[in-house]
Amino acid sequence: MTIPTLTLRSGHDIPQLGYGVFKVPAGDTQRAVSEALSIGYRHIDTAAIYGNEEGVGAAIAASGIPRDELFITTKLWNDRHDGDEPNAAIRESLDKLGLEHVDLYLVHWPTPAADNYVHAWAKLIELRDAGLSRSIGVSNFEIAHLDRIVAETGEVPAVNQIELHPAHQQREIVAWGQQNDMHIEAWGPLGQGKYDLFGLEPVHEASVAHEKTPAQVVLRWHIQKGFIVFPKSVRSERLRENADIFDFALSDAEMAAIDALDAGDGSGRVSAHPNDVN
Ligand code: NAD
Repeated sequence: MTIPTLTLRSGHDIPQLGYGVFKVPAGDTQRAVSEALSIGYRHIDTAAIYGNEEGVGAAIAASGIPRDELFITTKLWNDRHDGDEPNAAIRESLDKLGLEHVDLYLVHWPTPAADNYVHAWAKLIELRDAGLSRSIGVSNFEIAHLDRIVAETGEVPAVNQIELHPAHQQREIVAWGQQNDMHIEAWGPLGQGKYDLFGLEPVHEASVAHEKTPAQVVLRWHIQKGFIVFPKSVRSERLRENADIFDFALSDAEMAAIDALDAGDGSGRVSAHPNDVN
């Protein structure tokens, strides 16, 4: 399986498809990640708050896959933005992962009420410069947050990892990314199963036309939009299904029909608004 890569502003390449382990139970993580690696996934998205970095690390160690063929992301949790906490936090994550560096380290949420995300971002720049992460980025940042960190540090994040799926397409942030060479990572790419995405007409029609599952159609839409995705599943058949999206292409008309599913007013969001996570 050949998974396409995108080049981040850091100059490092990221596989456009990965495996995200949010809500994968700690006790099942090594098995699930090992299975993903054996299927051909090389990009794993975890976070300190997911509580499963050890399982990711155990799977990496057992795999024997050369370090430079893997792309590992983890994230700084909200209560560790202040002082030198980001430095302590990334070192704890690296210990759990059994790694000397991660490929991407993200500020998980801006927590605007605490007003410390600029400090957290400045610390990530130091951690990147110290070699602890190859690339750095943010997650759940709104345009006001992005504008502010760039104004205060001069550094644009390599990625912004945001909730994004057909009903919630985040067009303003996507446009900001295009203008500023920041890639978009789409979390909840399948809408977290919280609305009947797979039953929507354009998804269903493309699924029939290409003899692919609705999940494969939606993931393929993300890939053709240029987004980075890491759908979560603990089932090996779905891990395989989700990676089997590189042998077909949606037509311009099919892409446009899925584009038209955006609620347009933010009402398609299935999880919390970043301003409300503090
Ligand atoms: P998702 O859209 O990937 O949905 C996951 C759900 O879809 C699972 O319950 C699974 O059962 C189902 N599913 C997966 N493959 C399927 C298939 N082929 N057919 C039918 N159903 C299928 O949502 P997610 O897990 O929230 O997002 C993916 C990843 O994004 C996470 O694992 C995590 O790494 C990341 N994430 C980041 C944040 C953040 O704040 N940065 C928040 C949530 C998730």
